[in-house]
Amino acid sequence: MEAGARSDGPPQVVVLGGGSAGWITACLLHQRWGPRGGRVTVVESPAIGIIGVGEGSTPQLKAMFDQLGIDEAEWMRACDATYKLGIRFSGWSERPGFESYFHPFPSPLDLHTEPHFIRNCLLARKGLDKSAHPDRWFLATRLAEEGRAPHPADNFPFEPSYGYHFDAHKLGGFLRDWAVRQGVDHRPIKVERVELDGEGDVAALLCEGGERIAGDLFVDCSGFRALIAQQALAVPFQSFTDNLFNDRAVVLPTAHSHERETELLPQTDAVAMEAGWRWAIPLTTRIGNGYVYSSRYVSDEAAEEELRAALGHPEGEVRRLEMKVGRVAETWHRNCLSAGLAQGFLEPLEATALHIVIATALGYMHPLRDRSRIQAASILTGTDFDAGVFEISSWCVIGTSTLHSG
Ligand SMILES: Cc1cc2nc3c(=O)[nH]c(=O)nc-3n(C[C@H](O)[C@H](O)[C@H](O)COP(=O)(O)OP(=O)(O)OC[C@H]3O[C@@H](n4cnc5c(N)ncnc54)[C@H](O)[C@@H]3O)c2cc1C
Repeated sequence: MEAGARSDGPPQVVVLGGGSAGWITACLLHQRWGPRGGRVTVVESPAIGIIGVGEGSTPQLKAMFDQLGIDEAEWMRACDATYKLGIRFSGWSERPGFESYFHPFPSPLDLHTEPHFIRNCLLARKGLDKSAHPDRWFLATRLAEEGRAPHPADNFPFEPSYGYHFDAHKLGGFLRDWAVRQGVDHRPIKVERVELDGEGDVAALLCEGGERIAGDLFVDCSGFRALIAQQALAVPFQSFTDNLFNDRAVVLPTAHSHERETELLPQTDAVAMEAGWRWAIPLTTRIGNGYVYSSRYVSDEAAEEELRAALGHPEGEVRRLEMKVGRVAETWHRNCLSAGLAQGFLEPLEATALHIVIATALGYMHPLRDRSRIQAASILTGTDFDAGVFEISSWCVIGTSTLHSG
């Protein structure tokens, strides 16, 4: 019997949600269990739709596509994707010379320069006149400044790591089509209720029209609604709003302008604003823009006006989003795994949510492969979200050093 399964034989997995989190999780679980007779079903309501933001990644997305064996030339074209070598933060410091800095994804070549940069930061903090601005030290920064792709010539011995920008709707659609071709079952239907068994485990999703979708394992990817974990299983939600103040976003895509070459640098721009920050994400077809702000410090109307002014007063309707900042107390509860926004959400400043989705799915499969359900639960309870955050914070250290020394 497969560890964690409710019945003999390979697990029957039901994923609730067809956003990026649902399809990423379904693809990874199917790749592991499909060939052994497991079945993955994705249930999503087209009427509810997906959040449709989240258009920047870390290098973890490349690792995922590589693992799935999907060629980047294929999916990038389908998702209007561009390369991302890091994030340029502008306006976060008023110290002369430090008004802007680039947070690079690492490359092996950086191992030769980074120790000198860190040493300079330490010396600069002690008051010595040392170059402690990160922009001079990392390969990705240089490539981004020159608008270059991260694919070196064959004779260059270092491989830069990189992420992507992409259209979130198209990414979900691409993964859905790929997963269905591989044998994942897709059920476009609204779930009305979650049925629990006598022990309190999830037995089935009860859908409109009376359809009942049963399974052994359930993955809650239903977005901020968290229909299974928080609503049906009453897993507590731990809010982070005492520390992370930004709780709203206003989104306004714009067309490419005549400055297309500078707009298409392989970087996300994160620009400080009055009550938060705004992103600019270049896709092949448009620029994604949004202002993430704290409703304690600015009204929705003033935030929209500030964003429009920063973008040169473009036409077009904005989308407003409310963000539930925090996490479920237990990522795995009974026979339900939470992933994506249903698992938790941090400030999107470093574009790390999909990174955590992938880490969660991989972390879920790993202990289940050869441990008991109870051991797996103790490994997963809470730790994978933290592990994802830890992994991310370790590559955020460059940015932190910059802030401290700048
Ligand atoms: C402002 C902002 C910026 C962000 N920026 C980034 C970024 O740059 N990088 C990044 O990695 N992440 C980012 N994120 C996070 C990212 O958007 C999400 O992690 C990602 O889109 C995954 O969302 P999801 O699939 O969990 O939820 P959703 O996209 O909301 O999907 C939920 C799914 O559940 C389904 N569903 C819900 N209820 C039911 C029901 N009753 N019956 C059937 N189906 C149902 C819906 O139909 C939908 O398919 C950002 C988020 C915000 C708010």
